[in-house]
Amino acid sequence: MKTPPHNAQPAAVPAPAGEPCPLCPTPAAGASAGAALPPGSRILLTAAQIQTRIRQIAGQISTDYKGLDLLTVAVLEGARPFHRDLVQRLTVPAASDAVQTSSYGHAHASSGVVTLSRDLTSNITGRHVLLVDDIVDSGHTAAFLIDALARRRPASLKLCALLDKPCRRVTPVAPHYTCFTINDVFVFGYGLDYKGQLRDLPYVAAIPPSPPGEE
Ligand code: 5GP
Ligand code: MG
Repeated sequence: MKTPPHNAQPAAVPAPAGEPCPLCPTPAAGASAGAALPPGSRILLTAAQIQTRIRQIAGQISTDYKGLDLLTVAVLEGARPFHRDLVQRLTVPAASDAVQTSSYGHAHASSGVVTLSRDLTSNITGRHVLLVDDIVDSGHTAAFLIDALARRRPASLKLCALLDKPCRRVTPVAPHYTCFTINDVFVFGYGLDYKGQLRDLPYVAAIPPSPPGEE
């Protein structure tokens, strides 16, 4: 059976010409109309950088899955805008579905106990499944989903992440497609929440690390 290649993942992405480096944050103050940003927030990835990179990844995915029965699966809530923009730019037919997980822990770190709070509506047996997630941090969520979906015997199962924080990994998992590799910072915007808010920002911003004892 034809399967997409396994080595399609790029490393960290350089900033497009004329744009600031995504790893050299710029202040977010004033960049958002009316949103109350946490003090000290910095833009990590501009909307233009995100959209440029999504076009590149969508091109790779379109090449890799040409002629295959592709089902993209958004991991809600955080991956909603990423999944929407990615799917829009695919040049191959793709069906869409979604899952949602719950994990226990405090706001900035999952405990490793992950459960499926919303299941797929599609049967994935024999299909080429691409999980689309916002961020891989400890890896608990991605590993849980990969294990749960693999049991249903898809033809292939791959992970596409907007953001990867490999320095935070506890469970070994590597996305097959990564838009941006970032350092150990807490990020929000473009689907990712800050205390349940700010998911609608078109860019990704980071908050400064909390002083020791205040996490
Ligand atoms: P993991 O299971 O890999 O530790 O984390 C997966 C989930 O934790 C993500 O889908 C996201 O919901 C949350 N998460 C991890 N890092 C961040 C972050 O920097 N910002 C936000 N808003 N959520 C994060
Ligand atoms: Mg997620």
